[in-house]
Amino acid sequence: MSAMYEVITSKTSVSQLNGVGEKTAEKLHALGIHDVNDVVFHLPTGYVNQSVVDLREAVHESSITVEGTVVTEPKLAFFRRGMSRLTCFMDINGIHTKVVFFNQPYLKEKLIINEFARLYGKFNKNKLEINGQKLIYDTSPGYTVRYSLNKTMHAKTFSKFVREVFENYDFNHDLPETIKKKYQLIPLREALYRLHFPADPDSLHQARRTVKFYELYQFQLKLMHKRQKERVRNEHYIIDYDIEALKHFTRTLPFELTGDQKTSVNDICRDFKQNVSMHRLLQGDVGSGKTIVAGICVYAVKTIGEQSVVMVPTEVLANQHYESFKETFKEELTIEKLTGTTSKKEKSRILEDLAMGNIDLLIGTHALIEDDVVFNRLSFIIIDEQHRFGVNQRQKLQKKSYRKNILYMTATPIPRTLSITTFGDMDVSIIREMPKGRKPVITSWHTFDELDYVMGEVKAALNAEHSTYVVAPLIEESETLDLKNVNEIYQIFISAFGEDTVELVHGRMKPEEKNSGMELFETLQKKVLISTTVIEVGINVPNATMMVIFNAERFGLSTLHQLRGRVGRSDKQSYCLLVSQPQTDNAKLRMEIMTSTSDGFELSERDLEMRGPGDFFGVRQSGLPQFKVADLTEDYRMLEYARKEAVSVFEQMGGV
Ligand code: ADP
Ligand code: MG
Repeated sequence: MSAMYEVITSKTSVSQLNGVGEKTAEKLHALGIHDVNDVVFHLPTGYVNQSVVDLREAVHESSITVEGTVVTEPKLAFFRRGMSRLTCFMDINGIHTKVVFFNQPYLKEKLIINEFARLYGKFNKNKLEINGQKLIYDTSPGYTVRYSLNKTMHAKTFSKFVREVFENYDFNHDLPETIKKKYQLIPLREALYRLHFPADPDSLHQARRTVKFYELYQFQLKLMHKRQKERVRNEHYIIDYDIEALKHFTRTLPFELTGDQKTSVNDICRDFKQNVSMHRLLQGDVGSGKTIVAGICVYAVKTIGEQSVVMVPTEVLANQHYESFKETFKEELTIEKLTGTTSKKEKSRILEDLAMGNIDLLIGTHALIEDDVVFNRLSFIIIDEQHRFGVNQRQKLQKKSYRKNILYMTATPIPRTLSITTFGDMDVSIIREMPKGRKPVITSWHTFDELDYVMGEVKAALNAEHSTYVVAPLIEESETLDLKNVNEIYQIFISAFGEDTVELVHGRMKPEEKNSGMELFETLQKKVLISTTVIEVGINVPNATMMVIFNAERFGLSTLHQLRGRVGRSDKQSYCLLVSQPQTDNAKLRMEIMTSTSDGFELSERDLEMRGPGDFFGVRQSGLPQFKVADLTEDYRMLEYARKEAVSVFEQMGGV
């Protein structure tokens, strides 16, 4: 092995390290460590501070190292399947402290009455008890390091490899000098070394800051490259729409656009006129008026005789979009809908018109990506709730385009930190401002004991001829949980308001039954709709001013917010009543947040704080980056700085 400095490349295999034979190499590979670079970046998962603290000053629930004298004979008890508990009392700084070790029976020999012991564990100040994690024999002060090694090797062994890498290889990764200076960061090599071989809290802190910044910065640079790739420069991508015709058209709309809507239209139209392909995300809460924005841009495309498409993930959404586009644009645009349930005859008519260029806007589901769907000139693609489509599906649709311009739309307000990590490769337009005259929904929280009050509120809405949504737990849910199920709730409402007023729709019904129930509610023949979930209520009834959610604690903040978005769709004051007896602090907090804000973006920030980025999008479908040291909830400010620096470096290199 060469002892000379070698630049680490991804090709320098771990097998070249001293003491790494075939077996060890295999173990390292299993941990995802293939080259020496991986060794350096396999960072500790935690540190044990071996510096002894005074128990009298120790904080409840903290992990600490203490020392003292064993005063009682350790007792060992075995229970289920070889699990064990070792208990003794120690005198630690004059405090008679109970010490418990789980599943380390061999420590019985090491804890000797009247003798000294030093241990590391978690301190319960209320019980004066330490849950011991290990005995410490090595009396050197400072830290020991923990690695995630899946029990394949000792942390000490791994440390040896790390040390060897640092000693024998040069390491050519670093942040630019200007950035290090500006943010008081240390060289990356030094920072990584300190993380593996920590000395004291201050130097560890500084090292962590540096590595975090490096991670976030690298990640942003990668996104910039991705963005560059999406924004292909080509004269062909220009949509040279007729600006006078568009201005005239905008004036004919029944209302004035909000400031955010105007900005968004301008963003998109600017993209049209540029010689780069559009790759933009339009974010806005339910009801913020995204449809109008998209529609105006579709009109722009139509002024040069070209076509647009809207792809949505579900049939319900396709219907909704179709209706709402039709309502606003039926005079100006030829709009058709294509889904899995479109009849054969209808479909062949649509496909013919589409190929002839007689359709300006086609709205549909996955059915759109089938091979027989051929456009005349598709130049504007709109994808709604894009995270629900696979990359392949999106690409298939893209391949049909004549000029590549894509607008993604989402009604899920996304906190900025997540927005610039998951969508950092896109340009973003945000509609935060609601249309004028819209009154925020007033939300209140009640317990089940206050049912009379809740029923009174519904009665008041009925007296004003307004409609009410009631969301109740599924039948299956309430078998296991202590919930009032949808049928019980239905009975309560029937006895209060009668069958002529109340309609029931739930997941167990046949589609025809559901549809007819929803229709009665939509046409205002019935004013109270009781249902089980959000999706089933995929309808727009501006007359509804009341949303009652039973057992609201079952839902996360974003679902509650989506449900609430069903009301407040007119100039009338709307209300949302949460009926809930939350059992956990977290659920309580959710109710409190719901009653304190109706701003979707603010809510999403709170949601992120509570759930953490991994859970924010539900399943791990989001393509969220996994950082080793950085934490998106904690380090959002650093993320902003890292982004700023990445953008400016990228621009200096001539990126778009
Ligand atoms: P989104 O698609 O964001 O959920 P929509 O585009 O469906 O919202 O708009 C919701 C409602 O608000 C529609 O009835 C629409 O006509 C109306 N609307 C949109 N923009 C405005 C505006 N600037 N002023 C008044 N009403 C508006
Ligand atoms: Mg809409």
